[in-house]
Amino acid sequence: MNLVLLGMPGVGKGTQAQKIAAHFLIPKISTGDMLRSAVAQKSELGIKASSYMTTGLLVPDELVISLILERISQPDCNQGYILDGFPRTVVQAQALEDALAKRGASLDWVISIEASEDLLVARLVNRRQCGVCQETYHLEFNPPLQPQKCDRCGGELIQREDDKESTIRSRFAVYQKQTFPLVNFYEKKNMLKRVNGNEAVEVVFAQLLEQLK
Ligand code: AMP
Repeated sequence: MNLVLLGMPGVGKGTQAQKIAAHFLIPKISTGDMLRSAVAQKSELGIKASSYMTTGLLVPDELVISLILERISQPDCNQGYILDGFPRTVVQAQALEDALAKRGASLDWVISIEASEDLLVARLVNRRQCGVCQETYHLEFNPPLQPQKCDRCGGELIQREDDKESTIRSRFAVYQKQTFPLVNFYEKKNMLKRVNGNEAVEVVFAQLLEQLK
């Protein structure tokens, strides 16, 4: 099963992708997580991507396309995968489709998780992420057991640079302009399913499973 999750920043793509991955025993592939690791390692890709990420802009297509195509050709993707944060532009979606077609493969479903902007801002400003394993928390709804410490690995929790309110607004604008056209792109191909992301994590997950039945 090859899946894509679409949705505005903070809508819960990462959380739901993790739950889908565990349920269907497929890898969750997040371009955001991969890029943040590259930035932390100060690799060539990380150095190129860093300034785009901190200002909430998209990293150039060619960088993320080669990153994702390399990742999905790994053996652990043979039974499928769930993409979180890719594609984010029509150019990326087309590149993915072409690369999959060359391998005789295709995406199965694209799920758009949708929620109100006000709710998303409230979620994002209270989001904290482990600097080591990238597990995410919400200070109010999903707080860590010990302040500032990851329950899973003990790493320090940090606020993502791009989760500050002014950057959040530009990320929304970027989504509307560059990523939202993908909803239409996949709808026309009869590949799109929609889920209401205003609900609690388990309720959203139940809707997702229902859609994927
Ligand atoms: P995310 O964790 O998915 O919110 O991604 C964080 C940031 O990484 C984005 O604001 C972009 O700067 C960059 N990024 C992640 N995925 C992509 C993508 N598919 N295309 C371009 N930039 C991306």
